[in-house]
Amino acid sequence: MELVTNQCKSETKPSTKDDAYPSGRSVSDIGYPWQTFRCQKACKAIIDNPVLVYYILNQILRIHNKMGQRPKGSSAKSNLSVSSSGEASNNGKGTPLDDNNKNVVVVAKRSSYVILALFVLVIYGTWGVYHYQFESLPAPLTLEQVGKRGFSEHEAMKHVEALTQLGPHPVGSVALNRALQYVLQASETIKKTAHWEVDVEVDFFHAKSGANNLVGGLFKGKTLVYSDLNHIVLRLLPKYASEAGENAILVSSHIDSVFSAEGAGDCSSCVAVMLELARGISQWAHGFKNAVIFLFNTGEEDGLNGAHSFITQHPWSDTIQLAIDLEAMGIGGKSSIFQAGPHPWAIENYAFVAKYPSAQIIAEDIFSSGAIKSATDFQVYKELAGLSGLDFAYMDNTAVYHTKNDRLELLKPGSLQHLGDNMLAFLLHAAASSNLPKGKGESSQDKAIYFDILGTYMITFRQRLANMLYNSVILQSLLIWTMSVLMGGYVAAISLALSCLSVILMWICSISFSVIVAFILPLVSSSPVPFVACPWLVVGLFGAPALLGAFIGHHMGYLILQSYLSRTFVGRKRNLPTSVQADVAKLDAERWLYKTGLLQWLILLMVGNYYKIGSSYLALAWLISPAFAYGLLEATLSPARLPKPLKTLTLLIGLSIPFLISSGMIIRLTATVIGTVIRFVRNPGSTPEWLGNMIIAIFIAAIICLTMVYLLSYVHISGAKMPIIVATCILFAISLGAVWMGVVPPFTEDTARAVNVVHVVDTTGTYSEKLKPVSYISLFSTTPGNLIKEADQIGEGFVCGRDRLQDFVTFSVNYSCWTDKGAETGWVASDIPAMHVEKDTKEENRITQILIDTKLSTRWSLGINTKQIEDFQLKDTVLFEELIPLGEKSSVDGWHIIQFSGGTKAPTKFDLTLFWNKTRATITSDDEKKENLLLRIRSDVDRQTAQIEKVLQKLPLWCSLFGKSTIPNTLAFLGSLPVDF
Ligand SMILES: [Zn+2]
Repeated sequence: MELVTNQCKSETKPSTKDDAYPSGRSVSDIGYPWQTFRCQKACKAIIDNPVLVYYILNQILRIHNKMGQRPKGSSAKSNLSVSSSGEASNNGKGTPLDDNNKNVVVVAKRSSYVILALFVLVIYGTWGVYHYQFESLPAPLTLEQVGKRGFSEHEAMKHVEALTQLGPHPVGSVALNRALQYVLQASETIKKTAHWEVDVEVDFFHAKSGANNLVGGLFKGKTLVYSDLNHIVLRLLPKYASEAGENAILVSSHIDSVFSAEGAGDCSSCVAVMLELARGISQWAHGFKNAVIFLFNTGEEDGLNGAHSFITQHPWSDTIQLAIDLEAMGIGGKSSIFQAGPHPWAIENYAFVAKYPSAQIIAEDIFSSGAIKSATDFQVYKELAGLSGLDFAYMDNTAVYHTKNDRLELLKPGSLQHLGDNMLAFLLHAAASSNLPKGKGESSQDKAIYFDILGTYMITFRQRLANMLYNSVILQSLLIWTMSVLMGGYVAAISLALSCLSVILMWICSISFSVIVAFILPLVSSSPVPFVACPWLVVGLFGAPALLGAFIGHHMGYLILQSYLSRTFVGRKRNLPTSVQADVAKLDAERWLYKTGLLQWLILLMVGNYYKIGSSYLALAWLISPAFAYGLLEATLSPARLPKPLKTLTLLIGLSIPFLISSGMIIRLTATVIGTVIRFVRNPGSTPEWLGNMIIAIFIAAIICLTMVYLLSYVHISGAKMPIIVATCILFAISLGAVWMGVVPPFTEDTARAVNVVHVVDTTGTYSEKLKPVSYISLFSTTPGNLIKEADQIGEGFVCGRDRLQDFVTFSVNYSCWTDKGAETGWVASDIPAMHVEKDTKEENRITQILIDTKLSTRWSLGINTKQIEDFQLKDTVLFEELIPLGEKSSVDGWHIIQFSGGTKAPTKFDLTLFWNKTRATITSDDEKKENLLLRIRSDVDRQTAQIEKVLQKLPLWCSLFGKSTIPNTLAFLGSLPVDF
């Protein structure tokens, strides 16, 4: 980034007269440390250090100030040159000064229309930016329009249609085998039609069994085991430059879907884009310096197994230099980059060539913080293979993720064209490059910070520059603030403290008002989250109270500050009439509040800079731009002048850039947070109903406080106070009324509530006693709220409550509805998984060998009590392949979980060898029952029993089954082995 400056033409010399500081210093006007201005010095400073934004700001401020001070006509006698600005001057309600200053008026009133117009501008502007940045998609193109070498959405959609027609196609299903066949055929067609100088290799890759032991985030305490996975790997390289095969760019996505979705978005849309890209690239690759490998993997949904097996087993994996992963966390819209790096090459070059760049580092910050409980194949490429690259995801309409609504009809036209055009440009550029990066890059200082502006331009810069920039701004800001307070003395210190108080009160009131609504909603609405299907409701439900709270808190602080300032003026400005002093105090308070807005963002910048948070650039923009506008337009450095009302222009200039770069993203993030409420509850019944609301409430209040702090400073001396209170109250009342009366349904057919219906056959605790297994149908939900309405509509004898705890090994259910009706049929005793102790050496080093037979199931979870067991080994008894070797095992809450998922030919018999702890833990805790178990197993069968079919038929349309690696299929068997077997 470069900073272009105009050449200095003349040197501005301060006149001694104008520069003389009288003793009575106005609080708001103090504190800029620079006493002299030398043009060359400034130019040099700018050239030497282009980041001295504050320096420039202060110089401009000083020039402006001097111009303002130059006497015009007879104003020499008036050192109280209080003028009124813009909108303020017209209402003429100022207070005239004494005889010597008859022509001077102090105006401490702003028109309410200006404030209301500003609010309207903020709302429209924010919406406009969002619409332009995220909702305007390119027109889908046909094959005729793009030719042989381009990207056509029409062609890609044919692949999406073919794949979604297969219905849900999870690992282990016949439908997945068909999907693989389809992709294989499409790849063969690309091979046949490729340019004659391009080598296209198609590999139907059958991966061996393996164990995925990622340590990060969601994978702690787990080993993910896979077997019988198949992938299609497609490699394109120039025929007469075989050395290109040594350096490859990987483009990867997954064919498999979860059992509850046909997977139009997740990730048939990605697979289709890749096939269409491969078709285009097969006409270009003869000029490439690097190969391009397209990996269509299976097993992603069960824990990134596809990527793991490819990286650890495929012969081409060693040649990969760069990894691009395509994903979906919703359906369609713009596929944005939400993870990049660690090496900045890919993102920098993407920014350079992409046609419609869309990338936000703030998404990476949120994703890597663990706030979104999700992982992508990119984690495998980065952590396991040590690669750098890009991770894309579709994030529109995230509420449909892994539900029945991830379907073709909801995939917006233009979505695939957008990603395809961006990817094609990037791949052509990267594949022709002779300097692909190796590995992760040298230092974290090289990490790229990236974001797009209106989906049209993209800015990237490295952490090293960011550090310099942030540190420089922080240091100078701190210097200015320190000098301000030092020079202003006691009064300035108290004023600063009081204006900080007003910001703190703003946060407290805003969050409290909004959070109160979060608590109220479950009481007045049929669903505690009534806004999911109509996300705009949150504007009225949380946004309005948050804004009202922010205003009230800020105003309370303003009143305290103003009263303090008017008291101090009595001592300091004796020559002013009392009424003028009161007005001057108001204006001074307004300025303090504006400046405290700057301080708020300065603190955020400092925190962001300390933790090296990528999105700290936002804090920089929200600090620098309003500060610059203030310096440029408010220019009241002269201690002799009384403060003027802040100009509307200051706000417009100061906030235009911050709003431009953040409003689209704010709406997008809010929509994503709202959508994820559908799958918010990990262990149904274990979290209070209001918790999801509270997170959204705090999130929205925080956005209001962060972005409205400057605008709110303008409200206090305006007539808009009451209109704002009334408008927010009305908006809130309408929204709450709509929810209360059920005008807006919480869920619809297109935005369905996530529920699961599982036919459970439970044999836990029946080991060695010939008890009859308990069987029932369980209905539970990952969306907050009870299930009474759903159970009523289904009928079938469902009873809802908290008195039946279901331990599904990977999670537990504390609230559910269940029925025994029809549960006895649809399964047979021989389907129940068996755990048989084969060998047990009860010596000092106790070793136990257990044969596990999962019968029908190729998808199961096993919990191993790590308070008893130090280490273990898992082998498949058919091929005697070692699946999990000995070695340290992580655990969570005293359990290590094995999550197994395999294809149709995966083994079902395993040898588990347990090595006991030498010092056995004594069982004392409350949930003794669970602690008394050595092993807990759940085996899933993707089959609908007669009763499940009946229940699913009666399931309300606004509900959908929800798929996730930890959630069971529609038939699940539970079993256990006690510690004292
Ligand atoms: Zn996916």
